Amino acid sequence: MNLPYTLVQGAYIVAGLLFILALSGLSRHETARMGNRFGIAGMAIALIVTILAATIGQEASGLQIGGESGWVGLAWIVPAMVVAAALGIRVARRVEMTQMPELIAILHSFVGLAAVLVGWNSSYEHDVAYLKVHDVEVFVGVFIGAVTFTGSIVAYLKLSARIKSAPLMLPARHLLNLGVIVGFVVMTVLYAAIPHDNLFARQSLLGLMTLLALLLGLHLVASIGGGDMPVVVSMLNSYSGWAAAAAGFLLGNDLLIITGALVGSSGAYLSYIMCKAMNRSFISVIAGGFGVEAGTSVAGADYGEHREITAAGAAALLDQARDVIITPGYGMATAQAQYAVADLTRRLRERGVNVRFGIHPVAGRLPGHMNVLLAEAKVPYDVVLEMDEVNDDFATTDVVLVIGANDTVNPAAIDEPGSPIAGMPVLHVWDAKDVIIFKRSMATGYAGVQNPLFFKENSQMLFGDAKARVEDIIAAL
Ligand code: NDP
Repeated sequence: MNLPYTLVQGAYIVAGLLFILALSGLSRHETARMGNRFGIAGMAIALIVTILAATIGQEASGLQIGGESGWVGLAWIVPAMVVAAALGIRVARRVEMTQMPELIAILHSFVGLAAVLVGWNSSYEHDVAYLKVHDVEVFVGVFIGAVTFTGSIVAYLKLSARIKSAPLMLPARHLLNLGVIVGFVVMTVLYAAIPHDNLFARQSLLGLMTLLALLLGLHLVASIGGGDMPVVVSMLNSYSGWAAAAAGFLLGNDLLIITGALVGSSGAYLSYIMCKAMNRSFISVIAGGFGVEAGTSVAGADYGEHREITAAGAAALLDQARDVIITPGYGMATAQAQYAVADLTRRLRERGVNVRFGIHPVAGRLPGHMNVLLAEAKVPYDVVLEMDEVNDDFATTDVVLVIGANDTVNPAAIDEPGSPIAGMPVLHVWDAKDVIIFKRSMATGYAGVQNPLFFKENSQMLFGDAKARVEDIIAAL
C-alpha cells in the first residue's frame, strides 16, 4: 500500500502553514508561546508524514526511498531519532538562559553538516533524470552546508568565550574570500561537465570544494569582530535555512524546501534589522567585515578616575527620583538578576516613580534576549521600550540604572571614530542626571572596548553581582 500523493502533499501544506503561523506568533511577546506550539505541531506532522511516506511508499513519489527499502531505512531512523531526542531533551533541560546563543549556534552547525552529508550522499546517485541540474544542486547544497557548519562552530566558540571575540585580520582576507567564491563557481561548472562514469575526478573536485567551503565558513566568521556578532548569529540562522532548502531539493522533499526557505528568508530579514540597529552594511558584515578596517582599541586610554557608590547610596538616589530608566545588558542575564530587577521596578512604581526600560536591539547575546528575560520576570510590556523610544528621554531622567550593560551604553561609539564599535547607535544614558552602573569590575564588554561612560562626572559604579546589588538596594529602600 502506498500513501496517496494528495494526502502527503496536503499534510505538507498544513505543516507549511503552521510554520508560517509559528513565525508570525514568535514576532510578538504576547503570542510567542502560541507561535511555539504551532511550530511544534507543524514539525510533528512533517516528521510523521515524511517518515511514513518514506517507509511504506508514496504514490508518484518524489522521495527516494519507499516500499521495502523504506523499512530498512526505518530501522536506522528510529534508533537515531530516539538517541537524538534523548540528547536534545537532556541539553534543553540543562541549558542556562545565558548559554542559549551558543546552543543555537551549535544547532545551526548541525543543519550545515546535515546538508553536507545529504549532498555527498546524493553525489553518488547517477540514475536521476535531470543530471546536470542535480550536479549543481549537490554543489550548492554542500557549499552552503559547509560554510554554515564551520561558521557556526566558530560562532559557538566565540559566543561561549572559548576563543577571543576580536576579529582575525589576515592580510588580503577579502581576496581570499573572493577567490574561494570564484573557485566555487568554476568548480561547479567543471563538476557538471565531467562525465558521470569518471567518479574519481568528480568526487575529488567535490572534496576540494568541500574543504574550501569549510575554510571559507571558518574565515568569514573569524574575521568578524565581537560587536558585529549579532548579525553573524542571524546570518548563520539564515544560511542554515538555505542549507536545509538545498537538502530539500536533493531529497526531492517539498516541505523541506518550504521550511528551509522560511528560515532562510526570516533569518535574512532579522540580519537586515540587526544591521540597521547597529548601523552596519549588510553586505559588509556577510562578506566577513568587507570594507571595515580594524578599529583601534582604546582599552589603554586614560579617561580619568571613576567614582563608586554603595547600594545604600543608590537607594537614597532612587528615593528622591521621579523618573528612572533601567538599561539591562548581558550582565543581567549572567547574574539572573531579572527577578530582582522586576521586584525593584514594582516597588518603585508603587511609590509613584515612573520606571521604564530602554532595550538596545543587540543587548545580551541573542536578538530579543532582554525582552525574554523581562517577560519571564513578568515586567509589564508597556514599560519595556525600544532604544529609539527612550533615547530622547534620558535628558529628563533622574536616575539611570545600567544593569550589566556595557557596549550598548558606550559613548565611544559616537565620540571615537577609530573605535571598533564606531557608528553603532547606543543608549544615551549619560544625558541623565545620575547614572549607576552595575558590574563586577572595570572590565570591558563583549567588543573588548573600554567604556568612557564609567568615568563621566554623573556616573557611579556599583560593583558586585547585579542580582545581589539590586537585592541590597531593595533592602535599603
Ligand atoms: P556587554 O557584553 O557589552 O557587557 C556585559 C557587562 O556585564 C560586562 O561589562 C560585565 O562586566 C557585566 N557583567 C557580567 N556578569 C555580571 C554579573 N554577574 N553582575 C554584574 N555585571 C555583570 O553587554 P551588552 O548587553 O551591553 O552588549 C551586548 C554585546 O554583545 C554587544 O557587543 C553585542 O554586539 C554583542 N552580541 C550581541 C548579540 C545579540 O544578538 N544580542 C549576539 C552576539 C554578540 P564585569 O565582568 O565587570 O562584571
